[in-house]
Amino acid sequence: MEQKSWHRLGAEELQKMFGVHPESGLSGEDAAQRLKENGHNELSEGKAISPLTLLLNQFKDFMVLVLMGATLVSGLLGEYLDAITIVAIIMLNGVLGFVQEFRAERSLRALKQLSAPAAKVLRGGKVEHIPAKMLVPGDIVLLESGDRIPADVRWLECSALYAEESALTGESLPVSKHAEVIHADEIPLGDQKNIGFMGTMVTRGTGRAIVVRTGMDTEMGKIADLILNTESQETPLQHRLEQLGKILIYVSLGLTIVVVIAGILHGQPAAAMFLAGVSLAVAAIPEGLPAIVTIALALGVQRMIKRKAIVRKLPSVETLGCASVICSDKTGTLTQNKMTVTRLWNAGRILEVTGEGYAPSGHVLEKGKPLDLKNDQNLRRMLQIGALCNNAEIIETFPGEMRARHKGKEKGSEADKNAAVQPVWELQGDPTEGALVALSAKMGLTAQSLGVTYTREKEFPFDSERKLMSVIVSHPGGRMICTKGAPDVLLNNCAYMLWEGAVVPCTPTLRQKVLEANEQMASGALRVLGMAYRDMRSGEVADSEKEAESQLVFAGLAGMIDPPRREVRDAISLTRRAGIKTVMITGDHGTTAEAIAHQLGILQRGGTVLTGSQLTRMDDDALDKVSDNVYVYARVSPEHKLRIVKSLQRRGHVVAMTGDGVNDAPAIKAADIGISMGITGTDVTKEASSLILGDDNFSTIVAAIEEGRNIYENIRKFIRYLLASNVGEILTMFFAMMLGLPLPLVPIQILWVNLVTDGLPAMALGVDQAEKDLMEHKPRGAKENIFARRLGWKIISRGLLIGLCTLAAFWLTLRIDPGSPQQLVRAQSVAFATLVMAQLIHVFDCRSSRSVFHRNPFQNKYLVLAVLSSVLLMLVVMYLPVLQPVFKTVPLNVREWCLVLVMAGVPTFLMGAGSVWGGKKNRSRSGGRTMIKSTKISA
Ligand code: ATP
Repeated sequence: MEQKSWHRLGAEELQKMFGVHPESGLSGEDAAQRLKENGHNELSEGKAISPLTLLLNQFKDFMVLVLMGATLVSGLLGEYLDAITIVAIIMLNGVLGFVQEFRAERSLRALKQLSAPAAKVLRGGKVEHIPAKMLVPGDIVLLESGDRIPADVRWLECSALYAEESALTGESLPVSKHAEVIHADEIPLGDQKNIGFMGTMVTRGTGRAIVVRTGMDTEMGKIADLILNTESQETPLQHRLEQLGKILIYVSLGLTIVVVIAGILHGQPAAAMFLAGVSLAVAAIPEGLPAIVTIALALGVQRMIKRKAIVRKLPSVETLGCASVICSDKTGTLTQNKMTVTRLWNAGRILEVTGEGYAPSGHVLEKGKPLDLKNDQNLRRMLQIGALCNNAEIIETFPGEMRARHKGKEKGSEADKNAAVQPVWELQGDPTEGALVALSAKMGLTAQSLGVTYTREKEFPFDSERKLMSVIVSHPGGRMICTKGAPDVLLNNCAYMLWEGAVVPCTPTLRQKVLEANEQMASGALRVLGMAYRDMRSGEVADSEKEAESQLVFAGLAGMIDPPRREVRDAISLTRRAGIKTVMITGDHGTTAEAIAHQLGILQRGGTVLTGSQLTRMDDDALDKVSDNVYVYARVSPEHKLRIVKSLQRRGHVVAMTGDGVNDAPAIKAADIGISMGITGTDVTKEASSLILGDDNFSTIVAAIEEGRNIYENIRKFIRYLLASNVGEILTMFFAMMLGLPLPLVPIQILWVNLVTDGLPAMALGVDQAEKDLMEHKPRGAKENIFARRLGWKIISRGLLIGLCTLAAFWLTLRIDPGSPQQLVRAQSVAFATLVMAQLIHVFDCRSSRSVFHRNPFQNKYLVLAVLSSVLLMLVVMYLPVLQPVFKTVPLNVREWCLVLVMAGVPTFLMGAGSVWGGKKNRSRSGGRTMIKSTKISA
């Protein structure tokens, strides 16, 4: 589509030009055709690393190049077989590294796709949620506070809409938008108030717009090169390991040089020692470590996705394992967000409401008798307000449709049979509002019936700062403002009250009565909303909320249940055992919040509830003094959340914080783990967060923390395995050279050990199952060193034992006939088998922070398979006659195998026995970490 000054065109012109009706949008076929013509609505991405480059990168390593050089030299000197085998091993190693890195890269890309933005669009008369990249010019999009604008759009309708456009215009304050035509030729982007730009955010209000440009044609597309996402996804641990890798290179090189010099001084041929040294260096440098860490992270992240937790920022996987406080929203996260009005307070009467869910069947009862709106103007007015000041709809879904949608699910079940006879009422919109729609419908007031008399002129949308929502409606008798919201806030805006059919001044006594009724409903865990109205003076313009929401007439209270999510209670008790505190933060009333916190077991003995107004009166020092003891923050505004996060952080906590609205974004950003809601969350919060909950459920946070802890432990497991193996290899050679013995392993054997034992078993450890007591420990400290909890000691001691045992097996075999070259080959084969078996036995030890005896060694089937295939490969090079001259091996006899197995098993036996003995001595400690006793603390 050619470039136009879209701001100069009116709505009708635009509709004609794009061939679309603003009420029904494009048809599916039309949209598909336009997608073909215009391409996807996305900005072109930076160049990805090609698989070939990734493969070649595997051979760029300095030591690998030296080894290649050395091999070339030995090849030229006539050692063809050696040279070819070494090259083959290097190639195989490279391919293995490539596969690891390629998988890691692919998983990371898949993750990016998952958090791709979506758009709400009108297609064929229906509202649909589609990936933003499927948008085409002419699409009608619906946008609201918190949405990222998915393409360049021209506004058709705006209701108190503001957009934050700093990415494009540099203007940091949100600008007000409108749908009027702007009669000017060339105007800067910042002045194009009737245009919404791709990538900018709606910070307030709601609107409907027509897409005018997509993808690289948008204003953002023009500067796309500047904003390409170059954010690094490297985690702090990956960074630290990379640095550690560099140190290990120097250490390995240093030791290798010592080994080579010692060997030459003891009479070994210099050329052979050089090749052995280079092979040893290649084997000892844990070049696979970064790739395995990435794979462990990526696979862990995939597991999290299966548990509905989508990680947006990889580093947060590590932080998850350190979380010591979870601050969670109440509505929808701890509770089901399925609201049903069960109680009303109207003109001094307490009324009961019957019926379940959003179905419009039920009654309003006074002392058990059904009420009729015809004779009850007070109740009629209150219900009218609830229905008019509302954007939700309840839709009757026919069982056939339901069945089609849930095809395959619950086939022939009781639920299915019931669905066949009863209509299902589905909610579209906010559950709090849906509950009010259902309530009015029970009494015969539907959107249709009200629509005959009332027309909406204006809306002041709900926002959790104000805690109110208002609409202006016109009717044959004039105009009226309807407001609903938090009763305590609403009362402050009321000057009158509806009382026994008359409007009376809202005296302190009446106000007190309302507050008492509110308190009483809230103590039963009900969420309470107040309703008020005001007839407008003729000609009155209420441009701002402040003007509109004043001098109101209070009409009544509606209390709704929102049952706690079933699985949350268990999740909270799990967090408690894991040393993690759960804090509820809610905009709801203190008493409601406290009642629910009790039901869920959040509120602990001695724990307190703090309200937003108390918080406002406290300075940071005062807050820091109490924040450890506060379990519920009620009636808070989003801005309070930031103070809560910061206070907890000052108290030394690692804080996970949830949020859904635009105003939650700063707190989510400031938290160590910002968590947004996948279903109800806005784009702004999703983008600020590091974790998205696919199901908005609290227990998903706990699942993610569990996975986060497991991933970290698995990384520690394979670091322990890899480094102990490498230390073992180096020390075998080092001790032999120091003692003036011949080479216990030839270069090819060293390279082979490195290839076979480092690859698959280490990867299998990366996907190991969690230890049973993973969530019975306090969280680890955020600054904890990866070698903490005696890991460094375990690596060195095990490496030392492996080295000594391999050397012992070598020496015991060699000593039978020290001068004979055949016996040397035999002794080298024994050393080779001992080293391989010691490492493969050790890998099972690494699964437990205690010892091999604490876990079923066969639980991780990948590990068992990896070990079996490594053993098989070892037998192949020892027993296949064609490979024996290549690997300088001979088949071993029974006595030698016994020696190999005893020597390979000694390290595990010694360390295991030591751990059992140590464990008896100190039962209350586990792996150096404090165990939490799982005593129940009653609230
Ligand atoms: P959280 O999700 O953080 O637990 P919340 O959803 O309970 O909190 P808010 O949505 O900020 O908190 O609501 C605060 C109060 O505002 C509610 O207690 C209720 O009285 C009122 N309220 C909620 N939704 C609406 C709405 N759509 N219109 C008018 N008032 C509302």
